[in-house]
Amino acid sequence: MSRILVLGAGLCGLSTAMLLARDGHDVTVLERDPAEPPPVADAWEEWQRPGVNQFRLPHLMAARWRVEMARELPGVLDDLVSVGGLRANLLALLPAAQRGDWRAGDEIFETVTARRPVLEAVLAKAAAGTAGVTIRRGITVSGLLTEGTRVTGVLAEGGHTLRADLVVDCGGRRSALASWLVAAGARRPVEERADCGFVYYGRHFRSRTGVLPEGRANVLQRHESASILTLPGDNGTWSVALITSGRDRAMRGLRDPARWDAAVATYPLAAHWCDGDPAPGVDVMAGIEDRHRTFVVDGDPVATGVVAVGDAWACTNPSLGRGAAIGLLHAIGLRDVLRDTDAGEHDKLVHGFHDWTMANVEPLYRGTLWFDAHRLAELDADAEGVPYQHGDPRWAFALATFAASLGDPEIARAYQSLTSLLATPDDLRARPGLPEKIMRLGGGAPNYPLPGPSRRELLVAIGD
Ligand SMILES: Cc1cc2nc3c(=O)[nH]c(=O)nc-3n(C[C@H](O)[C@H](O)[C@H](O)COP(=O)(O)OP(=O)(O)OC[C@H]3O[C@@H](n4cnc5c(N)ncnc54)[C@H](O)[C@@H]3O)c2cc1C
Repeated sequence: MSRILVLGAGLCGLSTAMLLARDGHDVTVLERDPAEPPPVADAWEEWQRPGVNQFRLPHLMAARWRVEMARELPGVLDDLVSVGGLRANLLALLPAAQRGDWRAGDEIFETVTARRPVLEAVLAKAAAGTAGVTIRRGITVSGLLTEGTRVTGVLAEGGHTLRADLVVDCGGRRSALASWLVAAGARRPVEERADCGFVYYGRHFRSRTGVLPEGRANVLQRHESASILTLPGDNGTWSVALITSGRDRAMRGLRDPARWDAAVATYPLAAHWCDGDPAPGVDVMAGIEDRHRTFVVDGDPVATGVVAVGDAWACTNPSLGRGAAIGLLHAIGLRDVLRDTDAGEHDKLVHGFHDWTMANVEPLYRGTLWFDAHRLAELDADAEGVPYQHGDPRWAFALATFAASLGDPEIARAYQSLTSLLATPDDLRARPGLPEKIMRLGGGAPNYPLPGPSRRELLVAIGD
């Protein structure tokens, strides 16, 4: 069994550490933020995690995350529920007229979710209690130890060196692994990088009655000039976020809580999600990058002894709520590759994990990127007051699927399985009769089929 260093104690680093240690590896997690996780009940108020920009922004765990956790780390889900984590069926959050009666198999749409600090505190406690995992906080990794192009450990601020058979970078969207590799004399990994152009304006709420708002639409609603997220959370809390294009200057007034409130009040299927006690202020996150790194270039690894998992490998605009599920799948993939390949088989390990990544999680990343590109272009067209012209039959199919899901329970489930990462668009297209039904029911629908404000009405509410 191997000595493994995991860089970063975020969602992915902690899950990776547990999965690897349960296979008998000796895992040390290095986290630059010094604060130990407080008791879970205090995590939202107290835990300072400057290493994770989105720490207090809205999060919802996809049903696929719950499915994989239930299979791999079920104790974490039980722990989460025991501290007030929400067990909710995302299909059941839809209006009865949309989803129809309960059907066998609908339990697949269940998730377990919580505000990010609560979720991470539970994971951190579970990881710290896992035999074979050591978590060291307050250690900032600053470079790599190498022998030729093989990574043999890391350098940490303060002059520490730590050696390992394998270094797993879970340093998140701002990971510096590419520059560390170059500084160590390796070729630069191929990096694709672009500001994905969305801005998040989020607020958290606490129920006055202990009851969560009723679901009247999908958690992500697409509207003219903005999407709106309504995300249930733990302990009678939830969050609401408006997502706009960063180029749409008229939306910047959403930073102001009163204008944000006025804007959300114009969405008939979401306004009631503000009926609770709001946390002060609007949390804003802009400059969110799409970023993807490939460590096998022209058929050869840029280095061995190191792999990247989760956001350190690839990250996108998060409105589809997929990052944690994709990261967990990626961690499981690494665990599986390490079952077949010893960390000492340096080349074979990097190639094996690269191939697994390309076959299993790369398509999820590319699909998310594709959605983002269309959605951003659509928002920019809205801001210019022109219809979005795309000519992409797959986008037309995606829009038709959503529109048809509003009135047909079978398609509501098909759409939910897409957003839950339980099926791909190709899976839907391959189901006999389904594509035809989708196009028949949804093909002629308006671009924004849900009731909501026009751009003009939204701007009036924001007071532009
Ligand atoms: C606004 C926003 C909303 C989101 N909403 C959702 C959602 O609803 N659902 C969902 O599934 N996903 C969501 N995501 C994505 C999700 O947050 C990420 O996919 C997830 O956090 C990735 O986990 P990670 O462990 O790879 O990285 P992170 O959680 O970012 O953790 C990286 C860790 O590495 C540490 N680190 C970095 N550099 C070093 C270093 N040099 N030395 C030591 N430690 C280091 C950091 O301090 C940090 O703790 C959202 C993201 C954003 C930006």
